[in-house]
Amino acid sequence: MPQELKIVEGGCPLCGSRNGELRLAGLRDVENRVPGEYAISRCRDCQLHYLSTRPDEASLPGCYDTNYHVRFDRAVSPLMRGLFNARYALRMRRLLRHQGGRPLTSLLEIGCGDGNLLAYLEKAFPAPVELVGVELDARHIRLPEGSRIRLHEADFDQLDLGRQFDVVVMYHVLEHLVRPVETLRRIRSLLKPGGLLLFQVPNWNTCWRSLFPRHWNGLQIPRHQFFLDPPRLADLCARGGFRLEAMSGLMDPGDFAVSVCNWITERLHLKTLPRRAWFYLPAVILGAGLVAMTNLVTGQSGEMEAIARPAG
Ligand SMILES: [Zn+2]
Repeated sequence: MPQELKIVEGGCPLCGSRNGELRLAGLRDVENRVPGEYAISRCRDCQLHYLSTRPDEASLPGCYDTNYHVRFDRAVSPLMRGLFNARYALRMRRLLRHQGGRPLTSLLEIGCGDGNLLAYLEKAFPAPVELVGVELDARHIRLPEGSRIRLHEADFDQLDLGRQFDVVVMYHVLEHLVRPVETLRRIRSLLKPGGLLLFQVPNWNTCWRSLFPRHWNGLQIPRHQFFLDPPRLADLCARGGFRLEAMSGLMDPGDFAVSVCNWITERLHLKTLPRRAWFYLPAVILGAGLVAMTNLVTGQSGEMEAIARPAG
């Protein structure tokens, strides 16, 4: 938790405007319990929802738990392991579909978290496919013995990789960034001509956000700096120098499970963190059905996966 947390008023991370309309105030960190009260505004110029009352940039690293990027130990639950492997398989099917038969020789993952996706890819794409990961805090990454994955424990914005890649993937990273447009431009410079960027972000338009306005899984106050819907996602891509090639919804049982666990633990003043509560796994199982149904009915899912190519 932050040693010294400084909370400030900030402008829109997408267009830089300071012309925001306050939408939700008095928001708290119900997941990791960083102190402070925060607010979400909507930019009157580009319509992005963003965290307007937020930690200043220097305080942000202190708002993350040391194991924030490791949501669970995959060895603990075969069910969770199975769910995540199914998700990785789905991601790779999409990637290969958009590769369209072009050979894949190198892939970079920005914010590789616990390294599990890269480890999965290492099995799916045998040598000589090069796999590179960047992670701010790599202490929880355990790679298989003899792994060919190259890891950089660094801030991506400060790192000189000195090379280009066929594919860059970035899952649940963008919404944490203070300067997302600049980061996208940087990624663009790291892609070979015709290269692919895949990224995933929460979808502000999910019905679970309306049902749990202060406890929704995608809020992650104060770590998520802005909240995208499909039009804002396309806008962000364009500003970052990308052409959005495809966008698809992705079912996330956590949309219900985390939101409801956030709500229960706060209402009952429980000491346990929402994702560590005994009712979290049952909520995931119940959530899988509920979320699948609401995705079908509303046409909006809790997560969006975007596939983009450098524009022009
Ligand atoms: Zn704006």
